Amino acid sequence: MAPDFFGTDDEIAHGDALTQAWALRQRDTARALALVGTLAADAPPAARGRAELVRGEAAWLHNRLDAAAAHVAAARSAFAAAGDAVGLGDADMLEASLCDQTGGDRDAAMRAAHEHFRRAGEAARQRIAATWSACAEATANADDAQAHWGDTLDAAAALGEPGLDTYVEAARATQAWRRGDIGSAIGAFQRAHAAAVAAGLRHAEVTLALNIGIAFSTLNDHEGALAWAERARATVQPTGWPYLTAWCLMQTGSMLLGLGRAQAAKALLLEGLPAFAGSEGARNHVLALQVLGEACLELGEDAEAQRWCEAALAGARRLPHPDLVSGSLRHLALALARVGHVDAALAAAQEALDGALSQDDWPRVSTVHHVLAEIARRHGLPAPAGSDAASGPIHHLEAALAAGARMPGYQPPAEWLHALSADLERAGDLAGALRREREAADARRHAERRRAEDHATAMLVRHRVEQAQAEAERQRAIAETNRLRAELLETQAALEKERTQALLVHAGKMVAIGRLASGVVHEMSHPVGTLLLLAEALSARLASGPAEVSATLATLVAEAQRLQRFIGRLRDFARAEPPQLARHDLRAVLADARQLFAPRLGVARIGFEEDVPAVAVDVDPQRLALALANLVFNAADAMAGGARRQLRLHAALDGHEVRLHVDDSGPGVAADVLPHLFEPFFTTKPAGQGLGLGLALSAESLAAMRGRIEATNRAEGGARFTIVLPAAA
Ligand code: ADP
Repeated sequence: MAPDFFGTDDEIAHGDALTQAWALRQRDTARALALVGTLAADAPPAARGRAELVRGEAAWLHNRLDAAAAHVAAARSAFAAAGDAVGLGDADMLEASLCDQTGGDRDAAMRAAHEHFRRAGEAARQRIAATWSACAEATANADDAQAHWGDTLDAAAALGEPGLDTYVEAARATQAWRRGDIGSAIGAFQRAHAAAVAAGLRHAEVTLALNIGIAFSTLNDHEGALAWAERARATVQPTGWPYLTAWCLMQTGSMLLGLGRAQAAKALLLEGLPAFAGSEGARNHVLALQVLGEACLELGEDAEAQRWCEAALAGARRLPHPDLVSGSLRHLALALARVGHVDAALAAAQEALDGALSQDDWPRVSTVHHVLAEIARRHGLPAPAGSDAASGPIHHLEAALAAGARMPGYQPPAEWLHALSADLERAGDLAGALRREREAADARRHAERRRAEDHATAMLVRHRVEQAQAEAERQRAIAETNRLRAELLETQAALEKERTQALLVHAGKMVAIGRLASGVVHEMSHPVGTLLLLAEALSARLASGPAEVSATLATLVAEAQRLQRFIGRLRDFARAEPPQLARHDLRAVLADARQLFAPRLGVARIGFEEDVPAVAVDVDPQRLALALANLVFNAADAMAGGARRQLRLHAALDGHEVRLHVDDSGPGVAADVLPHLFEPFFTTKPAGQGLGLGLALSAESLAAMRGRIEATNRAEGGARFTIVLPAAA
């Protein structure tokens, strides 16, 4: 299965190295190249072909056109050997991209791609090829493109794939542009741009941002225009692709020129020119030279303008784009006239005129005549033979206006009419001068109205764009929230599972220990009881005997008592009888507990505070009192030897739970101790002082009352053990 033409996120995440490289070829060209570098030399031909295409695209983006062509050729022969028609079509698509710079036959490459995809039965790529063709055709003739490709575009749009949408919307934008509906064009370009961002089509992302900028500048919204040009520049900058970088600078320069900032435009273009290295003579390079010439003309640097225009012309003559030749000639003619080479200027202008006339290119015929008018005015040239105009400038301006009038909806520039009026006045034709001046005033009014309309359109478009962006942002935020929520639920579920497992393990342990304990209790209680009885009896009888015997006997009795206490506690553990639940006031239970722990607090001189409200709880009061006393004993142990010994018992209702806190001023629970607190036989106390059963037992008996114990350290120091109980309903 050939990788998706644009490369999906899924392919980037899960594909093999080659599939990833393909998907990343524009998103991260350097990484894509590194990935194809890992391909084994004896890889199958289809894989080698794909690797060559990745290299070819990188070479194209880095403006190494010969290398790119060589990679395309190598890819083709590998794909041909593998019988991989999809690969061959993809090679044609890259070839088509190359044609933009080399001046090759783009349409032929696209047709070949389409044919390969058709043979391979690759519907998605056929659509892509068709959409690209529609895009190219829309540039040439919007109506034809609509007739040919309208249905194809609608069908492709219905799929909602960002890779396709990029070109669908770009084609629609170009059509709208050609129809003169700049507002709709910007909207469509904008959608195309968003789709390119989503599909990782960085090249298209840059060119589309530039197109939006250019569209805004036609609406005289220069701020909008430059903002988009800046966006294009920011996108292209990290890629280091020289050609696209240069193009960006060229377009921005041209926008600046339109803004009347010729100096800034020139500086930018000079900066961008070296980036064309390797593709001098490509269409955009020629355009850059032309704009540079224009900027110099604007600045009155005519000799320099001449040099740039000559360079532009030389490049244009090598390309199959007659519009470029006549554009370069027109500017060159003006530069030549200004530096005094009248004949050369006229020859250049004449050639430009012939070219434009041969193509019925009326806008160009019109502008060339305008240039001829300036040459004639500057050098006092008469009207050409056969013309009945009173002077050269009058003849050419009339011709310029007549050529313009052949275009539907043409509005003559007010300055031209005004200049013509002045020329007529100079020639003594006052009536003619007055008529043209009136027309100039009309044209001015019309232009103003047009400007206001454009401004309104630009505002509207911007508003729509901003609205769409805000909506997209909102949708993204919603999606992100949903994703986070799903993640949270998953984590919660995982945690819950872990907790349940831990509880089960704990319960299992407790059962095992319970059995062990009952065994120990069973085996030991009699012998220990007997031992104690005998020791006590002996001690009573020998009360007046030798001192060391009495002392030894006293120790014997004390140790036997300790053993008995131990067995008593083990018995509690082993018994695990169900608690006797009944409703009690928490304060009454506390009063019982206090009886147990008050003496200990007194001896250890521990300050005690109690702040417990009257709340009802369903508990086994003895067990709760024991658990609480146990927490207090632990706290007293922890504070022993401390300078400050303060214990605070306080409770509060928290939702459906009662939380009873035991706060001490001891050292708190060490981080490595916390996770083990409730494990049976875990103790940090010296041997003989702690059994490590207190918390385990308390937790058990609270669990039996549907409660639990929590332990934390308090921010102000000391530990907090909390007994949590369900509040009685
Ligand atoms: P024992 O008291 O026999 O050690 P417990 O299960 O009651 O057994 O307590 C286990 C351990 O928890 C103690 O050894 C001690 O390290 C820690 N601990 C309990 N209460 C506190 C407290 N208030 N401050 C610091 N550590 C405590």
